[in-house]
Amino acid sequence: MKINGALSLNNDGPLIIQELDLADPKPSDVLVRIVATGICHTDLIAKANTALPLPALFGHEGAGVVEKVGSAVTRVVVGDHVLLTSASCGYCARCQAGNPSYCLEFHALNMGGGRCADGSCTHTQAGKPVFSRFLGQSSFASHALVNERSAIKLHPQLPLDVMAPLGCGVLTGAAAVLNTLQPRPGSSLVLFGAGAVGLSALMAAKIAGCSRLIVVDKISARLQVARDLGATHVVDASEANTMATIRELTGGGADYVVEASGVPKVMELAIEAVGQGGSVAIVGMAGSQATVNFNPVTLQSKGANIKGCMLAGENSVPEPFIRKLIEFWKSGQLPIEKMLRFYEFDQINDAIADSLNGVTIKPVVRMPRATRS
Ligand SMILES: [Zn+2]
Ligand SMILES: [Zn+2]
Repeated sequence: MKINGALSLNNDGPLIIQELDLADPKPSDVLVRIVATGICHTDLIAKANTALPLPALFGHEGAGVVEKVGSAVTRVVVGDHVLLTSASCGYCARCQAGNPSYCLEFHALNMGGGRCADGSCTHTQAGKPVFSRFLGQSSFASHALVNERSAIKLHPQLPLDVMAPLGCGVLTGAAAVLNTLQPRPGSSLVLFGAGAVGLSALMAAKIAGCSRLIVVDKISARLQVARDLGATHVVDASEANTMATIRELTGGGADYVVEASGVPKVMELAIEAVGQGGSVAIVGMAGSQATVNFNPVTLQSKGANIKGCMLAGENSVPEPFIRKLIEFWKSGQLPIEKMLRFYEFDQINDAIADSLNGVTIKPVVRMPRATRS
């Protein structure tokens, strides 16, 4: 079928909305008409990655309505409202152990470019392959083709444009705290990077009962949002002596630290900020060549640990965890709207620009009304 997608034709230019061809669903696939999609930092890292083939179709916070299902699909039916998340195989040792976010097939399924076993590609333009099914989706388009494991059925009254970022950014930040770190009530938590992932981690830390919530960022507008969302202290990294302030506020070092900026130098600060017996979660995405220096003796003498995490985090399956997050949202404990700004599909490049320059914390693009439910 013909679909419209905001294609990346080169690494530094704007996305261009063009028509392309999408293959029919394979037995386990679901065709979803996209209603809204968030834009995540990882889309922009991938867009700038010169190692990926072009043209490419990114986007991995899609939400929409099921239009067609493959012959073996059992989880959703045509007409269901769904939230999309990244792909996992379901049968590897990590998936079987309840850790699908760390699936052994993750790279092949999420960064494979839409190539099928027979060498064909799900997305093509004039017969040529388009790098697609990015993080299981490629949602910067009127339609997405996903494995049914990536489609989470939603109650039809939930607003799809607000729910969309639950598929990656909100999921990742909240899971880093609630699933990977699991902070004790009354503990201190320092958070570096008040973007969508970081602020989601902040809301989760408040839910977990952390009593001292310190947010570090360079953008004062984001620090203001952090205050609104429950930060007990904010530190403007462009002005303050960040580490001295954190030590003062935490009595020497934090019980828990979340690094959500993705900047290697900030990751070093995050590791330095942890206190005795504490834990650091590295959530922000740096480029694949990034390296981070830390002093092992300091870490050893603190008995501290560093954990990498992404998506649903440790020992967590996305679908039940996202359902839990929706319950938090309904009860007002996860007010994600405070981070969102909405754009129409043909404003997608404005949305990206606003995200890059810090004007918008989490852009969500809505598809043209004619295609909405
Ligand atoms: Zn797997
Ligand atoms: Zn993402």
